[in-house]
Amino acid sequence: MTSDLTEFLADHRATEGIEEFCAEAAALLGPQEVVRDATALEKASCDWAHMSPILSAKLPAGRAEVVLRPTSHQQIPGLLALAHRHRIPVTPRGKGTGNYGQAIPLRDGAVLDLTGCGRVLDAGDGWIRAEAGAKMSDLEAHARTLGQELWMFPSTFGTTIGGFLSGGSGGTGSLVHRTNGDGFVQELTVVPCTADAEPFTVRGADALPYIHAYGTSGITATATVRLQRARDWSGLFAAFDDWRPATAALSDLVRLEPAPRLASLDEAGLVRAFQPDPALDPAALSLRAIVEAGAAGTARAIISRHGGRVLEVRPAPEGPALVSSLSFNHPTYHLMKAEDGWFHLEIGGDVLLGDPAEIRKIFPGTLLHLEGMRSGTVGMLMARYEDEQTVYDGIAALEVLGVGVHSPHNWYVDRRVDLVRSAARAADPRGLLNPGKLPAP
Ligand SMILES: Cc1cc2nc3c(=O)[nH]c(=O)nc-3n(C[C@H](O)[C@H](O)[C@H](O)COP(=O)(O)OP(=O)(O)OC[C@H]3O[C@@H](n4cnc5c(N)ncnc54)[C@H](O)[C@@H]3O)c2cc1C
Repeated sequence: MTSDLTEFLADHRATEGIEEFCAEAAALLGPQEVVRDATALEKASCDWAHMSPILSAKLPAGRAEVVLRPTSHQQIPGLLALAHRHRIPVTPRGKGTGNYGQAIPLRDGAVLDLTGCGRVLDAGDGWIRAEAGAKMSDLEAHARTLGQELWMFPSTFGTTIGGFLSGGSGGTGSLVHRTNGDGFVQELTVVPCTADAEPFTVRGADALPYIHAYGTSGITATATVRLQRARDWSGLFAAFDDWRPATAALSDLVRLEPAPRLASLDEAGLVRAFQPDPALDPAALSLRAIVEAGAAGTARAIISRHGGRVLEVRPAPEGPALVSSLSFNHPTYHLMKAEDGWFHLEIGGDVLLGDPAEIRKIFPGTLLHLEGMRSGTVGMLMARYEDEQTVYDGIAALEVLGVGVHSPHNWYVDRRVDLVRSAARAADPRGLLNPGKLPAP
């Protein structure tokens, strides 16, 4: 236990009614699924917020008093009705990889660990339905047995569908299909925290108030998401000496037909933080893409036209899996693992395709990771952390340059907030679901 946590616990007062709540929860789940040992409580009180030096300075910030582990989605309503009656805060949790404190129980109470609700329930032409705790990798594997594949999955492939929809945004597949709020979700079953906790079903656009809402507007019990025909993918790995030709090649790959599943670009400083691999040259920029095997020839031609070198075209499953595992926030993870003292920002805009010199004037030593998308370029900016104010001043200066910035250094719901708030008023009248995450109006 860290000294910070010891100090924090010294001031800690148990939530009123927690003992009665736990006793009744044990009657519903069985005592073995109502967990109160210190190690489990500490684990359930953290997520990947430590990737932000700003959030790390604000931790610990709330602690689980009990971890509830339902083993079927049908047990969720009983638990939420009980929480409503005893007024116990409930923070849902999948694998706990949300980077921004999303799964930290800021107001203590119960953490609802949904990983035991992990069954793939059904699938048909163009769709798959699963319990919220099912792993994205299990959904993809199941879809593949039917000659299909997911529209998208995050670089954290083993995380849960409930966590990805409630806390994530996109990943492999977003090049074409954009974010998880852009039609990926066909249907959700949501459990409210009310007296009867009667589940309800939302479809299409009506699911938006429950996507990227951190569970504040209801707990997702099951999700039906979209599939497409499975393709024969390969991982293409190329090296470039300069930024401009590399971004020109990235833009051309994004427009390639048939469309790639993913296309990413990293500066050499990031490549050096990755696990060594013959397909990655640590002295060069790395451009990688998941392309249909039949389009690999055209993709190779794009790379040579822009002066790059194709290092390898690696077939599935290894090639595409490696490209996916180095996408979105994973370069940040590898850099931070290799060396202390970095922070990151989520950035966007086609201005990123140009010379990064102006960006480096704002944050000297910046390293850039880009994701090519048909809806516009996004990526990660990593730079040396000085203090919180320098980060916020830099964000303002980046915005003047036309770089879109999303700061991962807060734990508030920050998308479709009005929609989420209005759904939360109905689904959580006592404000017990992941409290502290919805900003005040
Ligand atoms: C290195 C790294 C790389 C990442 N790459 C990506 C990426 O490519 N794309 C991306 O989108 N994200 C990415 N993330 C963020 C995160 O890993 C993903 O969004 C992941 O899918 C979250 O799933 P989880 O099971 O870990 O959810 P958790 O972290 O457990 O939960 C996420 C949020 O959803 C809530 N929640 C969980 N389950 C439910 C439920 N059933 N109902 C309601 N609310 C629920 C939690 O309270 C929390 O607020 C990355 C994170 C890291 C650390």
